[in-house]
Amino acid sequence: MSEIYNFSAGPAMLPKPVLRQMQEELLEYENAKASVMEISHRGVDFMALAQKAEQDLRDLMTIPSNYKVLFLQGGASAQFSMVPINLLRGKNTANYANTGHWSVKAIAEAQRYSKVNICTDSSANKFTDIEDFSNWQIDESAAYLHYTPNETIAGLEFDFIPEVDMPVVADMSSTILSREIDVSKFGVIYAGAQKNIGPAGLTIVIVREDLIGEVVPKQPILFDYTTQANNDSMYNTPSTFPWYAAGRVFEWLKEKGGIAEMAKINERKANKLYQAIDQSGFYSNPVNPKYRSWMNVPFILADNSLDKLFLEKSYNANLLALKGHKSVGGMRASIYNAMPESGVDTLIEFMADFEKQHG
Ligand code: PMP
Repeated sequence: MSEIYNFSAGPAMLPKPVLRQMQEELLEYENAKASVMEISHRGVDFMALAQKAEQDLRDLMTIPSNYKVLFLQGGASAQFSMVPINLLRGKNTANYANTGHWSVKAIAEAQRYSKVNICTDSSANKFTDIEDFSNWQIDESAAYLHYTPNETIAGLEFDFIPEVDMPVVADMSSTILSREIDVSKFGVIYAGAQKNIGPAGLTIVIVREDLIGEVVPKQPILFDYTTQANNDSMYNTPSTFPWYAAGRVFEWLKEKGGIAEMAKINERKANKLYQAIDQSGFYSNPVNPKYRSWMNVPFILADNSLDKLFLEKSYNANLLALKGHKSVGGMRASIYNAMPESGVDTLIEFMADFEKQHG
């Protein structure tokens, strides 16, 4: 039987070697004599695991020492609230780039706390393009600028970091660890774990220390970065299993040569898939080639009455979860770090065969 490849956008895509390792050590974690799910998060074994996971992430992303790394719960959606709560710091406006579905969600939540200046808006082009940065309407008096470097649904990814005179906040849920970035350019980076980090249930927040400590009054204590930073992300019981799994993924990434190596593979995987789409005449992707995502590749078939057949046949060929998000229709191949290049090659072959038979 041919290998199974899961192109799912979530809630998790994990490297097979990591899944196997977790299976092997599920009943007894290292020397702990119990499952990692059962040991105390305040005991020596878990504390060592937590520290190593943080250090490995710091190494992988070259996170400067004046940044805190938090391992939280609540998903990226909780950060939609935590960002304004912590970053407004007495101001009453924030800049938000609207480049897709997840930007829209972040904006709606920020509007509960603050005025929002939409500094750029891709809704008119159905989130297939990003306006030239020189035309963005930045409110210079605002507390911060928020953007979504990779929009998971439309497959729209920035190839630049907005340069502004205020903290830049990035929802990196679906792009973190896929390519090298300069962390020092950001005030806050956050990411739900469930794409390139580990299973759902964990959210990574990387926050510059000087931005911590001045929250909108009367907010939940858990939503104050200070609470989390002062308690090593263990003010309450943390999400221990996803934290452990993330640590194993970080080790796997280091073994693979780190993010620079991963980025080369990711770029190659994405380029060959887009090339196959563009050269086909049967498949298409509407995103400006400059801003096509390395992680999420949506495409449509020339005849959408064939969608159902495409999904049935691809599933039978062990290529899973290719159905596109309902808002854009068609197909979407999520090709996160855990997707081997052979998975993309197999998908390209399948697509060519399908076109030959039905195109
Ligand atoms: N932002 C982006 C870019 C996402 O892709 C997602 C989830 N797919 C979210 C936010 C929401 O994340 P969560 O479900 O962890 O709240």
